[in-house]
Amino acid sequence: MKDCIKISCLALMVLLLASCSPDPVTGYEFMMDTQCSITVYERGDEAFIDGTFQFVRQLASRLDRYDESSEIFRINAMAGREPVKVTGQVFELISRARDLCEDTDGLFNILMGNISDLWGFTSAEPHVPSDEELAELTAAADISNLVLNEEDQTVYIADEKASLDLGAIAKGYASQAAADYLRSQGVEKAVINFGGNVYCIGTRPDSSPWRVGIQNPDTEYGGYFTTVEVSDCAVVTSGGYQRYFIQDGVRYHHILDPATGRPADSDLASVSIICEDGALADALSTACFVAGADKAEELCRKFGVSALFLTQSGEVIRI
Ligand code: ADP
Ligand code: MG
Repeated sequence: MKDCIKISCLALMVLLLASCSPDPVTGYEFMMDTQCSITVYERGDEAFIDGTFQFVRQLASRLDRYDESSEIFRINAMAGREPVKVTGQVFELISRARDLCEDTDGLFNILMGNISDLWGFTSAEPHVPSDEELAELTAAADISNLVLNEEDQTVYIADEKASLDLGAIAKGYASQAAADYLRSQGVEKAVINFGGNVYCIGTRPDSSPWRVGIQNPDTEYGGYFTTVEVSDCAVVTSGGYQRYFIQDGVRYHHILDPATGRPADSDLASVSIICEDGALADALSTACFVAGADKAEELCRKFGVSALFLTQSGEVIRI
């Protein structure tokens, strides 16, 4: 069964044209359960890229609910018991994510950790849960069970059957943090790609925009069906092809509809969000994928972001 899980490491391909000069330096690491790359122009050297990855690795482990030293792990361990005091950065991210749950009418929901675990998407034996199990955990994942106290900087999950999962915003947030870090180090041209969470800094060396390829959900790795041109911008793609398992001939992917706890079954095959905020792009790409084309368009207009949808029938919609 494990072999059936596909992780599209290179969900998006950034087209780095050979004519660019001076030579870019690229580093790769497997982090946040995905293939990550950072390409820096002009001032990049391997030690500098390593330092950037170290910065990202630390941030990622703080947001990892499986890392026993993380604040997220502690919040989950204390669910139904007591509030947990967290650092300002983590409080801000959780608070922002909670607001996004509300602003997407619950399509984005960070309390579904236990539901993902029940499906076992990252386990050796993923399987379809029973209706009863799903109903129980879906009710517990109601976002009103996430209690934030700004004054005390505490986070409390009021129902022990719910658990925090920042998986749909963490990579985008980390790509933004990496971009901010690189800029603070004087980098003016770079491309970050954390498993389909792309952030482009500046322009290409010839001052033209970066071209980001959007993966074709039907091809395994690297094939793309179109490109978007951006500078100083995030391009984040979510799709049901990125992680899934097959049981009895049916494919079950990892993006869940919070209303049912089951894989979202909309008319969209993939959603790419294009905006200056990596965390927002990540959260919205997930929410829009769940929403389906009509509601997703409404959400994109509400948040003032550009987007590219690929429908199940192969139509490309640009917002
Ligand atoms: P990926 O992590 O493959 O880039 P997403 O950004 O869409 O894809 O995030 C999917 C991950 O977020 C899932 O693996 C799960 O941990 C969590 N998740 C699944 N469905 C939702 C949802 N509706 N809202 C928020 N988080 C979700
Ligand atoms: Mg996402």
